[in-house]
Amino acid sequence: MFKKFLTINILIFYYCSTLFSQNLIQDNNFENFDENTITANVEIPIDSIVKVSPEDVLYEKIAIDTIDSKDKFIKIILFDDHTWNYLDLHKPQISEDILTYYWDSEKIHSYKELDIKTLPDEIPIALIDSLSGFCSPFVAKVSSPYCFRGKREHNGVDLKVQIGDTIRAAFDGKVRIAKASRYTGGYGNLVVIRHTNGLETYYGHLSKIIVEEDEYVKAGEVIGLGGSSGRSTGSHLHFETRYCGQSFDPQRIIDFETGSLKSFSIVLKKHYFSIYSNHKQTDEQSLAASQRIVHTIRSGDTLSGLASKYGTTIDKICKLNNISKSTTLRIGNKLIVR
Ligand SMILES: [Zn+2]
Repeated sequence: MFKKFLTINILIFYYCSTLFSQNLIQDNNFENFDENTITANVEIPIDSIVKVSPEDVLYEKIAIDTIDSKDKFIKIILFDDHTWNYLDLHKPQISEDILTYYWDSEKIHSYKELDIKTLPDEIPIALIDSLSGFCSPFVAKVSSPYCFRGKREHNGVDLKVQIGDTIRAAFDGKVRIAKASRYTGGYGNLVVIRHTNGLETYYGHLSKIIVEEDEYVKAGEVIGLGGSSGRSTGSHLHFETRYCGQSFDPQRIIDFETGSLKSFSIVLKKHYFSIYSNHKQTDEQSLAASQRIVHTIRSGDTLSGLASKYGTTIDKICKLNNISKSTTLRIGNKLIVR
């Protein structure tokens, strides 16, 4: 049964190689393995790297162990007939364009200088393809959605995690930011990954960061542990999806409760980048929501004053902000007026 499981695993590795599966990684003991021929952590000449050959699969060789090499995307696989082969886990391939465009390991939001007006109205994104897969960063209910939250924008979703829960990379990519709390404002210990599909994902409030800046990661690879670092009450994962620095509701692409991807691709509309746009709306509603006008309360402002200034009614303002007519307006707070 166990052998069959491993054989099936080779098949998965060979034909898909999309998930950085740890199932085959056992301890490195192998009685009959000739330590002089090859040892763990040797540097492997790049031209000698081969995939596990189809014959290995056809003749049903049974994999009994794997050994790490210096390159985390190359493993040495040991078979029951005392032969071995390299196992290529396929380092993620990211186009040079994506890797060099506003790449910055210091600034958390590296696209700040990019003018959103230069982005097209519709941006098609292939979320996964034959080479790169998907894994939900964590499977849990969304405890706080992508929305405008009183005083500030909540540019991602919160997922309830326990301290120490494993947090995984959503797609293949390269780590742009892996910084401790003191460098990230409210994000706490933060990982930002730029993906092969052009998106970036943010993982905040981690208790421990496991990857390093500039490291390549596969979808599903553990990148950190859940925590409560930074501006956080109670342990949770703050997760963001961004394109060219513009955040959009992660629930547009991921069902966090089941841990599944909602579709293989998405066409990002420009209005999705508004904090008032979310996955529950139709595109028409999203567009209308993105055109909302927000007023920052100043001394002397009243609901009736604002209603006449913006050509609306007190009732409408109250409804939009979920407040009552008697709510005290606090200077500096933001109010949706239309
Ligand atoms: Zn959050």
